[in-house]
Amino acid sequence: MSSRCDVAVVGAGVAGLTAAALLAGEGLEVVLLEAHSQSGGCAGTFRRGPYVFDVGATQVAGFEPGGSHARLFRHFGLELPAARPLDPGCSVQLAGEREPIRLWRDPDRWIQERQRQFPGSEPFWQLCARLHRSSWAFAGRDPVLPPRSPWDLGQLLAALDPAVLASGLFTTATIADLLTLCGCGGDARLRRFLDLQLRLYSQEPADRTAALYGATVLAMAQEPLGLWHLEGSMQQLSAALEQALAAAGGQLRLRHRLTGLRPLAGRAGGWCLEGQGPAGRPFQLEAVEVVCTVPPQALPDLLGPVLPAGYRRRLDRFPDPSGALVLYGAVPRHRLPAELGLHAQLEWADPGSLFVSLSAEGDGRAPVGQATVIASVFTPARPWFGLEEPAYQARKAQVQAGIQAGLHALLGLEPADWLHAELATPRGFAGWTGRPFGFVGGLGQHPSRFGPFGLASRTPLPGLWLCGDGIHPGEGTAGVSLSALMASRQLLAGRGRGLRLRETPAAAPGSG
Ligand SMILES: Cc1cc2nc3c(=O)[nH]c(=O)nc-3n(C[C@H](O)[C@H](O)[C@H](O)COP(=O)(O)OP(=O)(O)OC[C@H]3O[C@@H](n4cnc5c(N)ncnc54)[C@H](O)[C@@H]3O)c2cc1C
Repeated sequence: MSSRCDVAVVGAGVAGLTAAALLAGEGLEVVLLEAHSQSGGCAGTFRRGPYVFDVGATQVAGFEPGGSHARLFRHFGLELPAARPLDPGCSVQLAGEREPIRLWRDPDRWIQERQRQFPGSEPFWQLCARLHRSSWAFAGRDPVLPPRSPWDLGQLLAALDPAVLASGLFTTATIADLLTLCGCGGDARLRRFLDLQLRLYSQEPADRTAALYGATVLAMAQEPLGLWHLEGSMQQLSAALEQALAAAGGQLRLRHRLTGLRPLAGRAGGWCLEGQGPAGRPFQLEAVEVVCTVPPQALPDLLGPVLPAGYRRRLDRFPDPSGALVLYGAVPRHRLPAELGLHAQLEWADPGSLFVSLSAEGDGRAPVGQATVIASVFTPARPWFGLEEPAYQARKAQVQAGIQAGLHALLGLEPADWLHAELATPRGFAGWTGRPFGFVGGLGQHPSRFGPFGLASRTPLPGLWLCGDGIHPGEGTAGVSLSALMASRQLLAGRGRGLRLRETPAAAPGSG
């Protein structure tokens, strides 16, 4: 079956749902193709018996007034999904220490905590806060980065102000450079803390994370920003975006996996999308334009010889993003320490440092008296695909034991406490999300790939747009929503139309 629409969006993760809802809301005929039987992608969920597990994302940013999700939901005329603010946003446990570093929501409490934990580091935090304030105000003015057309450049220039230009001096600096500049370069304990936090959000440690990106993620847990835990499950976010899409008249086609994308010859132009629909039946769809949210590493297979050679070389030169190993478990609630909060990081050697997320009583993820425990760690993805089945299973068992040993150290959990435990590897993520090698986390926020040096949403192929975690401003549901907004604005501008979010409140610059 073949049909034609204005825009085909590929992938119903948070980026694709947001772009599709925005474009349909502007009166375009939009079809959203999703390979899986449900939306959400890396921010989706799955059920096991009485438990609901968040597959990847477990906490959200951007719910504060002026935050990306909050702005978009106001535009869609929808309430944000129910969520509780996290306080602390995270408890960070360094190896060999008893007391964690807590990222309190109250900025003053966080200042006291960091001054007690890292004496003498205040100049570093103050510099980060200054850079964050200007970056945040800049982001709230919806710049286009990196610019690839006169219109893009106009949007970028309109978002600049003297503070942004001044912080532009730090465009090629790393967080480690800021530490050195502030006389904190020798504080090994602070460095370990920063490495843990930054790896979580930028895939890179302090000496490889762009200073302007790192300064913002280090301010994310405090008001007026903050981190939230969704009631029910992470799927609520995608379910609400599905609602926005349906209300705007857009179509979501689940179980539609795109396998090929080629430009159409002739005066009408546009794109032909081919793939497999339900029960493996082939489908074809024609679209004037395409917004692709699958990772850029998937483009060579989808486009084949159509992909310009220079662009293909650029994609090939990006280092591999990480894969993820994730333990999904459940335990009796009374076995968990009460004071830790819902999210923690543990500096851990084997298989690596853990990010741990617990369910809250009554949040819909586990029966009363029980809790889900999710622990994730980054891993090089490709080696997982070369293993024969027995070696793969042995490696999985080894990793699971390593993670459970970490959770024993962090939470005191004993082997008998586990009511459920299963491990996902990059192979599982490749199957769940369609991502090549199960790569997660975008391109990494090294200065050479950050902001102006990143991959653009505007591709060299007319009518083909990118968004998602490989595109500015990077990973996280809040980040990919902004990339969806950027690509949608570019697409509409090409049709001579503007897109300004309705009822946009003033951006909320951070403090501290
Ligand atoms: C372990 C882990 C923990 C994380 N923790 C957090 C967190 O706490 N907070 C946070 O904000 N972020 C977190 N993230 C990151 C966040 O989940 C992602 O950055 C974000 O969800 C990516 O959204 P996306 O729409 O760009 O991509 P995806 O979510 O990957 O969506 C892409 C969609 O495209 C579909 N698709 C793929 N190929 C095809 C095809 N050929 N045809 C049709 N459809 C296709 C997929 O099925 C998928 O639904 C985490 C990620 C992981 C893996």
